[in-house]
Amino acid sequence: MAKLELAFLGAFHITLDEQPITRFGTDKTRALLAYLAMESGHAHRRETLAGMLWPDQPDEAARHSLRQALLRLRGAISDADNTAFLLASTETIQFNRASAHSLDVAEFAALVQTCQTHLHPRLADCAACIARLQLATDLYRGELLRDLFIGESTQFEEWVLVRRELLHRQALESLDTLAAHHLEHGEYARARQYAARQIELEPWREEAHRTLMGALARDGQRGAALAQYDTCRKILAREFNTAPSEETTKLFEKIRSGAFENKLPVSIVPPRDALPRDPANLDALAALAQFHLAQGDLTRAHAYQTQVLAQQNASGDKSALAAAHHQLGVILQRQDKLDAALAHLRDALALREQIGEQSGIAASLDALGKILAQQGNCPDAHAHFLRALKITETIGDPSGSARVLKHLGMLRQRQKKFDDARACFERALALQKEIGNRAAIADLEKRLDARRDSN
Ligand SMILES: [Zn+2]
Repeated sequence: MAKLELAFLGAFHITLDEQPITRFGTDKTRALLAYLAMESGHAHRRETLAGMLWPDQPDEAARHSLRQALLRLRGAISDADNTAFLLASTETIQFNRASAHSLDVAEFAALVQTCQTHLHPRLADCAACIARLQLATDLYRGELLRDLFIGESTQFEEWVLVRRELLHRQALESLDTLAAHHLEHGEYARARQYAARQIELEPWREEAHRTLMGALARDGQRGAALAQYDTCRKILAREFNTAPSEETTKLFEKIRSGAFENKLPVSIVPPRDALPRDPANLDALAALAQFHLAQGDLTRAHAYQTQVLAQQNASGDKSALAAAHHQLGVILQRQDKLDAALAHLRDALALREQIGEQSGIAASLDALGKILAQQGNCPDAHAHFLRALKITETIGDPSGSARVLKHLGMLRQRQKKFDDARACFERALALQKEIGNRAAIADLEKRLDARRDSN
């Protein structure tokens, strides 16, 4: 059965069996699909849909337009098996909830809702919920149906606006929690990344500017923290003709007076000769590298990440330098340059061990293990995975543990230790079920099924 993947968070993006589908013809056809998929709980009367999408047309013409759109939609998303993604009668149309599909909006909402109802003393301390929010914010590529403009229909517009606003607020709040979590754990590079993401989504969000200022100051980058205040001030002046709030200004004064530096743990104070740099520019370069990596354009990803690494080398920020080495290692591995990848990942690991960044150490060990396995060095790969697993379990990082367990299972499979492999996949599956990571659950179930079939 072909699988339809619907992504509406950010730009409208549909794939059928991993092939992008673009031949929808009109924005109204896209709007119809988005509406039916997101409102799949019941069947919709044809005249209601026609009235919503073609409010300016007489009834008969509107119904004709709807028939045309439905035809185009069926042409675009049907496949060889003739899978029915849409159930249509003469009176009603409904998206088939039983069809093989995924919908990013639904997954995002489920992850956020699980966090809201999960019993934990405090959200920012709950490892399972932090993992959920990471998944949710990764799904949130931007505002709901950002690039869909259908003109005259105010009813459809209102329907989108209400949902867009709610999802946007949930994404910002999730990023808040993630930034706070990493700030409290001394993971400043990651805290900065989440705060920067908030500012990207909402440039005038003062809380995010404060988080970013705090993360920079705690990381010993006072100049950059003060510059961030200036950025915030300029944005507020431009957008609303106002000044930053008292809270933000107080934080600025505190950072300027040096109050933050004294509280820094010794290990993360950068050397005195650290060069000034532009954190916003660096974050943009890193984001570009990540974007091209996700798109599979490895040459561009490599070029941007090399620039990030060069700038971080000059900065004296060990945590960010380690992250840059790690990321370059991942890109090189994808390019099949395994020895170069190993060198960068080992640099990342050494730096992370120096500063005691536990989650980073586990991530680098895991990445190193994967390359060692690829090179056929199974004993070393095994040792790396076991060390990584021990760390993720100690710090309570279930999604990290699940990732390592999957890689360990793949290694065991390669070594023909099938019982071990199954045990690893089963443990990973239990963790991913707890988190609610549907893509990972499906992947692990497939691996377990494949094992059973070949037994
Ligand atoms: Zn929780």
